Amino acid sequence: MSNLAVPDFIRADLDKLELSIADDQLEALAHYLHLLLETNQRTNLTAVKDPDTAWRRLILDSLTLLPGLEMLEAGNTVIDVGTGGGLPGIPLAIARPDLSFTLIDATGKKVAFLQSCVEALGLKNVRPIQNRAEVLGHDPEHRQKYHLATVRAVGKVAEIAEYCIPLIKTGGRMLAMKGAAAESELADAGDALAVLGAGDLALIDAYPEGFDSELILISIVKDRPTPREYPREPGTPRKTPL
Ligand code: SAM
Repeated sequence: MSNLAVPDFIRADLDKLELSIADDQLEALAHYLHLLLETNQRTNLTAVKDPDTAWRRLILDSLTLLPGLEMLEAGNTVIDVGTGGGLPGIPLAIARPDLSFTLIDATGKKVAFLQSCVEALGLKNVRPIQNRAEVLGHDPEHRQKYHLATVRAVGKVAEIAEYCIPLIKTGGRMLAMKGAAAESELADAGDALAVLGAGDLALIDAYPEGFDSELILISIVKDRPTPREYPREPGTPRKTPL
């Protein structure tokens, strides 16, 4: 398979979203998508197989986070938790080469794929790490070190908050990509958010009217340090959410 062409509808949608992505960045996104879909034939990285759907649901959806990264300055740090095949971390890293991205996933073969992408695309601002969020959350190199945590399709809000918030600095934020259940999951996660150190919350429609999408972004600001006992043991946040 040669590199995928950038579809015209993606350029049009980026214009409608007022997201400016340079031509060389679009080419890098096409190269990444090509590697993802090709590797996906042998290794399970995503349920999406059709290239047009992949451009919409994987690339464009990931890029809708960009306005939420606008306040980050050059050299700031982002961690993508449960990144799988690199979503949303790799598209964001291509669009924001001035930020430093750490992509973590528990599964070795996914992290091996990410390492091959970093090499093939020459992504100097991306560091893939194989580990569980519950472990990195207690590692002094990672605990409370990131300006922003992103997360897509990893779990319900109470679970992903326990993965992400311990990794974020006080004053930093978590941005979760969610579907129609965002509001009810957020309501269910009230206790978890209070205990982990969350402050202001916002629900943001990722797309303006006229787009066929139910993507909702949950923004959670961290306003105080996370108590030392969190995250709990690996597996506990999923089995027994706070
Ligand atoms: N974010 C990617 C996406 O949207 O395509 C991957 C989503 S996939 C459904 C969930 C990923 O989260 C898996 O790759 C899994 O290995 C990873 N994961 C789940 N729990 C994790 C944890 N506690 N720590 C690190 N990774 C985790």
